[in-house]
Amino acid sequence: MNVASAWHFVAFLILFASATIARGETVLSVTRIAPGNYAHRGHDDVATRENGGDIANVGFIVGARCVAVIDTGGTLAEGRALRAAIRAVTPLPVCYVINTHMHPDHIFGNAAFKADHPQFVGSAKLAQAEASRADNYMRALNRELGSAAAGSEIVAPTRTIDGTGTLDIGGRTLTLRTWKTAHTNNDLTVYDEKTGTLWTGDLLFVRCIPVIDGSVLGWLDDIAHIRQMNPRHVVPGHGPLDPPWPQSLDAEARYLADLARDVRAAIKRGETIRQAVDSIGLDEKDKWLLFDLYHRRNVTAAYAELEWEQ
Ligand SMILES: [Zn+2]
Repeated sequence: MNVASAWHFVAFLILFASATIARGETVLSVTRIAPGNYAHRGHDDVATRENGGDIANVGFIVGARCVAVIDTGGTLAEGRALRAAIRAVTPLPVCYVINTHMHPDHIFGNAAFKADHPQFVGSAKLAQAEASRADNYMRALNRELGSAAAGSEIVAPTRTIDGTGTLDIGGRTLTLRTWKTAHTNNDLTVYDEKTGTLWTGDLLFVRCIPVIDGSVLGWLDDIAHIRQMNPRHVVPGHGPLDPPWPQSLDAEARYLADLARDVRAAIKRGETIRQAVDSIGLDEKDKWLLFDLYHRRNVTAAYAELEWEQ
């Protein structure tokens, strides 16, 4: 490249960069997990002003006719950045926005897709679950993220799944499935038949500690079925993309099974919930990120669930 053409190239880059900045558009980074499947890796953290609520793995699948988004991130801004990432890959319309469950880090970007008029898809139990937590979620979002939360809102599903259902995005069938209460009572997975890619939502946590907002026993049952799906690629709700299978599922299953076993034993010994929280599973600390934030809460949830078995 001679000096003149080098200068032209630099000038082009400056123009290109300023065009991007002028539009003020942030593009979410995505990785191609399998043909047509693109996922963004969220931060291994709770939502903060620094990470802007970008803590869940989110992404999209491109068909021959249109695009299905799977979770939209923790704010309107993240949803817009995800939309920009889709536009960098394909001009096809977004026809489905799927939410894997009700948690704020997975749903608050939905509003970024309203103008695309997609069907918003979720578990038949999603709308009720969102409505029951809406006030708390909005308050917490504004408190934790401040101005970064601007414009974020809950957009309820317009199409619901109870059991299994399929979505055709053109030459590609997505199988959606709802599950027994586990991480939440409205968990839903997405399976791309063409590539054997399973989007687990928060039914799978990798490296980040699993969080029980539903049922430890239900979750263990679901895991037994998820194991049989034997996917070729996996997008967990949190943690590294396309982790080793089934080792990543094994680690989560072992944590939950040990928790259920130890809590049952504590209840049998007549321990109080406080005693159980102060003693169970503390040796798991070095195995999981965010252990200090969620482990004791998990023991509490498991205790409340299991004490009624006796
Ligand atoms: Zn979740």
